[in-house]
Amino acid sequence: MSFEKIGLIKPLLDAISELGYTEPTVIQERAIGLVLAKKDIFATAQTGTGKTAAFMLPIIQRLRDNKPLAPKAVRVIVMTPTRELAMQIEEETKKYAKYMDLSIALLVGGKSLESQEKRLQDGIDILIATPGRLREHIIKKSIVLEALEIFVVDEADRMLDMGFVTDIRLIHAELPRRHQTLLFSATYTDKVRKLSRLILKKPEFIETAKQNKTVEAINQQIYLVDADRKAQLLSFLIGSRNFQQVLVFTKTKKSADILVEELKLDGLKAEVIHGEKTLAQRNKTLTKFKKKELNVLVATDIASRGIDIEQLPQVINYELPSVAEDYVHRIGRTGRAGHDGEAITLLDINDKEQMKVIERLIHVKIPRSEIKGFEVDITKKADQDDLKPKRPKKAPLKQTHVKKGTGKSVQKKIAAAPKKAPTQKKRKTTKRDGR
Ligand code: AMP
Repeated sequence: MSFEKIGLIKPLLDAISELGYTEPTVIQERAIGLVLAKKDIFATAQTGTGKTAAFMLPIIQRLRDNKPLAPKAVRVIVMTPTRELAMQIEEETKKYAKYMDLSIALLVGGKSLESQEKRLQDGIDILIATPGRLREHIIKKSIVLEALEIFVVDEADRMLDMGFVTDIRLIHAELPRRHQTLLFSATYTDKVRKLSRLILKKPEFIETAKQNKTVEAINQQIYLVDADRKAQLLSFLIGSRNFQQVLVFTKTKKSADILVEELKLDGLKAEVIHGEKTLAQRNKTLTKFKKKELNVLVATDIASRGIDIEQLPQVINYELPSVAEDYVHRIGRTGRAGHDGEAITLLDINDKEQMKVIERLIHVKIPRSEIKGFEVDITKKADQDDLKPKRPKKAPLKQTHVKKGTGKSVQKKIAAAPKKAPTQKKRKTTKRDGR
């Protein structure tokens, strides 16, 4: 089906054709007509499926009557978990609405409340907001919601994981009785289902991908490696495979900071974004990464949420996320809108169990291998049952030692001598947190 057949109007068709969209994605094909028909929607759609356009194009079309706005009134609210994501949606909305006369505004933390109040004074057609800041303005009465026509809850699962449930409930309670609600979520969890019951009226369900299934265009790989050699392996992969624009995920801010320093020591152009960086710093880093002035962007899950870089070729999980669903979000940064992508996980023994949880969630067994020169130390390998090391028929001798002072018994395998990895320059290993 074409965008014309779906019923989009010329100013929108012209705008998206300039963006190079030739045909609708699955979610767009299914959602646009329903949004135009004023239905409530519950859609499970992963990042990279074109979901922003799926709700924003018909929303813009719905606003074409250019109703005069009362002071402080808002016609559409799009609520999304992070500032970055909100900025990205605003950016896309402005592109789609290029040939329409609409007021579009962003309402996120990190900006002054007063300047935002001023902006809201004349009324806004489309407001893109994060829950905390939106709530503040509702409480301050700098927004009037009586005329609200459409309420979009984007990345609902993520918002609930981030603890925004009270904010969402409070905001929902303030909305007028008659309005349309569109709920988008990458995953279909119990929490999301509960929320949907609260905020949706007779919704149409759209399931674009099987629940928790990762985007098929992504080639997923696991490289088994010892924890203390991961940074080295990462530099080696980036260098030897000539990765130009790679996004690397860590579990914590601290390990992100440590890793980026190590990568810099290896001569890589790397920077970090996480929750402790200011919005201005994060934007600056992101812009550099988008312009390819940086080859490596190290990020934590929350900071990475809004990153949208088309055709990002590689995503690397340096450490696995504590919340298994975040794996889906992370690797959704590659293989976007039908492009091929590669998601590599550097797996050490600490993350072994979490990897299994993730594989159960996505219903995929990801192939495991080792990189020559970075093979798992055979003495540790005995615990890495993923590797199923070939042992001599006779069980190796085991000796049980008692660690002084702890009383803990430590089994030391002494039979098979460790195969030495080819010489790699020794580096000082740094203790990482999050373990
Ligand atoms: P989203 O899932 O909204 O984050 O969109 C992912 C990416 O796909 C964005 O960079 C969009 O610009 C792009 N995109 C959205 N719809 C289309 C389409 N119909 N054709 C090509 N690219 C698209």
